[in-house]
Amino acid sequence: MTNVPTHPQWCDRQECTVTPDRPPGAHCSRPVLLRPEDREAMYLRVALHQADRPHGLPVVVCVEGYDEDRAKDPNPLALLALSTRQATITAHLLRRLVQRARS
Ligand SMILES: [Zn+2]
Repeated sequence: MTNVPTHPQWCDRQECTVTPDRPPGAHCSRPVLLRPEDREAMYLRVALHQADRPHGLPVVVCVEGYDEDRAKDPNPLALLALSTRQATITAHLLRRLVQRARS
């Protein structure tokens, strides 16, 4: 029997913490980083995560907020772990709110 982990297609091996030696890690996609501009309050980091154990846990969309560059302080001020259903609905609601704010 082999202990070689299988990774989802979206998993970035640089970010993934699932290894044959450490199977209870988490698969992670390559994060998207948003730096604040024009008086925006936070740095944002968005990525997919999926714990490897127990098997079958759902994929979550993680949104982390930092008050300064993550390289200076790796502890997020805020963390949202959204199911794909919640992320889909939240994205739709945010788009509608932004349209309203701009009208
Ligand atoms: Zn992985």
